[in-house]
Amino acid sequence: MELLKQRILQDGKCYPGGILKVDSFINHQMDPMLLYKVAEEFIYRFRDANINKIVTIEASGIAPAIMVGYIMHLPVVFIKKKQPKTMENMLSTVVHSFTKDRDYTVCISNNFLTPDDHILFIDDFLAYGNAALGVLDLINQSGAVLEGMGFIIEKAFQKGRLPLKEVGVRVESLAIIDSLEDCTITIR
Ligand code: 5GP
Repeated sequence: MELLKQRILQDGKCYPGGILKVDSFINHQMDPMLLYKVAEEFIYRFRDANINKIVTIEASGIAPAIMVGYIMHLPVVFIKKKQPKTMENMLSTVVHSFTKDRDYTVCISNNFLTPDDHILFIDDFLAYGNAALGVLDLINQSGAVLEGMGFIIEKAFQKGRLPLKEVGVRVESLAIIDSLEDCTITIR
């Protein structure tokens, strides 16, 4: 997606350890016009899929996911990173965070992820794929069907696509970063 690539090159910042900061337009300050176009692109790429619900994970996935849900007139559910005491029928799994270098438990209510659901999962980044594999575990526990996963940015050098491909997940990324070496952003 050309508009997104240009924006990453213009406003993205590299940090040591293969981290790309996009906090001026996606992760902290958000550009709704760009995120709307991002959502339209996801919808175009998954136009052949039979989707009835959008799932994301807090916090950064929520904005693009709600744009997709708004345009498609579909409900959006976000996976929580803290376990609320009041959640009914909780499904949970453990995810390793690459940016924070720790394990954490994520959860979702089985009330909102059911065997009737055909899911499009949306998130900001695909890095090593740990978050995505955790999401897949929750979807499998719930009996829902995963139709595909859409990422705004994929850091291809961290190879998160591989474990997802191995289990047959359809992956679409709107900007693929081949390298952040020497703090230079190389986009495919
Ligand atoms: P993974 O589980 O694929 O290793 O990492 C995915 C999650 O880590 C994403 O949901 C995202 O929040 C965070 N993440 C991974 N790499 C980056 C990065 O380079 N920049 C930012 N801002 N977040 C990242």
